[in-house]
Amino acid sequence: MSRSKPTFLLTRKRAMPFRLMRFLCLLLPIAATPVLAQQDSVFAPLHAVDRANFDTTCAPCRDFFGYVNGGWLARTTIPPQYSITGVDRDIQDRTEALLRRILDKAARDAKNATDADTRRIGLFYGSCMDSVRVDREGAKPLRSRLDRIAAIRSRAQLVGVMAELEREGVNGPIPYLAYPNFKNSRVMAFHLYQGGLGLPDRDFYLRNDSQFTAIRREYTAHVGRMLALLDSPKDSADADARRVVALETAIARTSIPAQDARAFSRLYHPTARASLLRMAPDIDWTGFFSATAVGAPDTINVAIPGFIRGVDSLIRTASIADWQAYLRWQLATATAPALSTPFQQEALVLRRLTRGETQLKPRWQRCQQATDQAIGQALGREYVKAAFPPEAKARTQAMIANLRAAMRDRLNTLTWMSDSTKAEAFKKLDAVSPKIGYPDKWRDYSKLVLVPRPYVTNYLAAQRFETDRQLAQVGKPVDRTEWRMTPPTYNAYYNPAFNEIVFPAGILQPPLFDPTADDAVNYGATGATIGHELTHGFDDQGRYFDAVGNLRNWWTTQDSAQYEKRAQLVVDQYNGYIAVDTFHVNGRLTLGENIADIAGLTIAYDAWRRSLAGKPEPAPIDGFTAKQRFFIAYAVSWREKVRPEMERTWAVSNPHSSVRWRVNGVVGHVPAFAEAFGCKAGDSLARAPEQRMQIW
Ligand SMILES: [Zn+2]
Repeated sequence: MSRSKPTFLLTRKRAMPFRLMRFLCLLLPIAATPVLAQQDSVFAPLHAVDRANFDTTCAPCRDFFGYVNGGWLARTTIPPQYSITGVDRDIQDRTEALLRRILDKAARDAKNATDADTRRIGLFYGSCMDSVRVDREGAKPLRSRLDRIAAIRSRAQLVGVMAELEREGVNGPIPYLAYPNFKNSRVMAFHLYQGGLGLPDRDFYLRNDSQFTAIRREYTAHVGRMLALLDSPKDSADADARRVVALETAIARTSIPAQDARAFSRLYHPTARASLLRMAPDIDWTGFFSATAVGAPDTINVAIPGFIRGVDSLIRTASIADWQAYLRWQLATATAPALSTPFQQEALVLRRLTRGETQLKPRWQRCQQATDQAIGQALGREYVKAAFPPEAKARTQAMIANLRAAMRDRLNTLTWMSDSTKAEAFKKLDAVSPKIGYPDKWRDYSKLVLVPRPYVTNYLAAQRFETDRQLAQVGKPVDRTEWRMTPPTYNAYYNPAFNEIVFPAGILQPPLFDPTADDAVNYGATGATIGHELTHGFDDQGRYFDAVGNLRNWWTTQDSAQYEKRAQLVVDQYNGYIAVDTFHVNGRLTLGENIADIAGLTIAYDAWRRSLAGKPEPAPIDGFTAKQRFFIAYAVSWREKVRPEMERTWAVSNPHSSVRWRVNGVVGHVPAFAEAFGCKAGDSLARAPEQRMQIW
């Protein structure tokens, strides 16, 4: 699993398994996979409002998350193979069952299939499912790479091998990606970011909370066992593990905190190649660029110059032997999911430490998820044929139109923003372009060469193909039809450089999006998701980009100051929340997501009321008024139970708050909530006007 791969997306959920997505704004923490719930007899229909999930001993005005989801939380145990379960898992179970059928069939037909993509997904998945062959091979397929690492004699060779491994998805300390030039979004640029850690964030190496010191101890032993699996004798493996952890700790020290690593406006440092040589003279940049196959870009965005200087000094000061141990470890941990059972079991140790998972998922599920990650557009094509009807697209488009109109009304009535800033904001809002369901143009995988066996060869080939495909665009016009998530993905994102909102088919399904449900429910869940992504363009970072996706300050000094002042209320609010045990929510790290949550629900509510114009108030259903159902559906969309290990990891590294606060921290900002549930002054969720976010 890639852990610290750069992305620039803002999402709905937390965490991104895809590499090269750093700059997008996602909806959810973990991008995984998902189906429009067709009548699939295995699964009960998913309804948003189910009283059996409520806990009516919780007062809705004090703990709305508990009120709507408390019954479910009390009776639910997270299965050992997962770090979270809930609405996310319900949806993904359906999706994965369908994907499994598609893949089983493709694997059976792989030899004779006339369609190249079917052959590809069949080959990839089939090679993964061949557990006998995978177990027999052990780490043998990695031999040539291990030999290359062993043969390193100079720092120039070291950097070349690092860059080449990075290309295959192996973490290193000089991570790079293709993303549009921040100030000229029509042209693809080459960016250097930060990374190279084996644990999820620098805090794991640097903080002295007892949980983290314990993890570091176990992690060192885990690295040692992983190196021993690659044939190192036990004693030298343990000694190497200590060198690896020492080196990663040094890399962590030179990294910037997660809350700063999301500040686009401070990540723009275009640097001429010659200046890069002066900035980091001990890195052999010529060898580096030739190993990345990007050619030699004239200008490089060094997103975090201090990090590159720090790595440069480590390249000079750490011994070649230390770096060799580090690269062997990184190769092992990156490929373990594609190697024999002992590697997979050992990789589970790291998942236990950082996510609380204690059991491997069934092989078909791991292989299905790996296929989606590796060649997800080939798989997604089959998926949408089976699972995404055209009506779903039309309904989503209609909701987006209403949300956009609601946001426009809000902008119109703002008293704190000057007319000149408003004019730019309108321009940007009008220009936001939606992508719904799946790409118009499918990815061409014809250059990806897959083999019947061994699996890990395919695994690395797919990573390399994807890196090369993206890097080949550097210096060229940006292809705005690109998708950075696969169609079955249960997530959504805002991409600042494209000024676009993207909703894969996988998230447009019940209970979040249900063509048979009332509009209150669809607006409360999917409407809020659309609102979340739409307003990312105006969150504390998104606001630095303009209508065409360029980083350009379109704010007057006074309006900027007003924005910061208003955003500070949200920072302070979330700083006061506990994520888990002694770990607080970081109000600065989560600011953009919290603003998007609050603004998203606010305009979703407006948009829903707008859609009712001229119609009578909908009648109550199941004893709840339509207004109540709107907010209940929103709380249901965050019905998740999360292991404490995962909560801790997220608290330090993830820009999204815990699900409880994504509900309880948000609803009180919408005045209609208190009205719908009869909240009184003094109820903790009934926020007084001066406690509400006054941005939109
Ligand atoms: Zn988001």
